[in-house]
Amino acid sequence: MGNKTLAIIKPDAVQKDYTGSIISMIIKAGFKIKAMKMTQLTKSSAEGFYSVHKERSFFKDLVAYMTSGPCIPMALERENAVEEYRKLIGATDPKKAAEGTVRKLFAVDIQLNAVHGSDSDENAEKEIAHFFSKDELLNNFTE
Ligand code: UDP
Ligand code: MG
Repeated sequence: MGNKTLAIIKPDAVQKDYTGSIISMIIKAGFKIKAMKMTQLTKSSAEGFYSVHKERSFFKDLVAYMTSGPCIPMALERENAVEEYRKLIGATDPKKAAEGTVRKLFAVDIQLNAVHGSDSDENAEKEIAHFFSKDELLNNFTE
């Protein structure tokens, strides 16, 4: 079980000023922020980040959404980070997300769903590297 995950506060949530509330939930859930930035994704960066979904019907809309404004990627550390963070954010579709989760509170629908979370330790590693160079990661991670 790994100790790192990549979170993104997506453009809809940044635009609506949910950033502070979401970061507060992340910290209260016991995660340490090891790197964070605000950035607007280019089309090619968003396509690369979501390349596993490139054959899906929603891919084009997803890329348009993710490039629509600034977003806030964060590298997070906590024991069992991938699973614990996905528990905190809830299901992809906010209609199915548990009460009190980030998506239940802040998502609009299955696409505009406020936050991203890695789905495996292997992808967490790749996704952190997509946004952060080694010297941007605070103290690296405890291994
Ligand atoms: N998405 C969408 N329509 C769908 C499924 C997903 O627009 O039917 C978007 C949504 O923003 C989601 C992202 O594509 O967060 C990636 O989908 P995935 O299935 O990986 O969900 P996640 O891991 O973010 O819960
Ligand atoms: Mg996913």
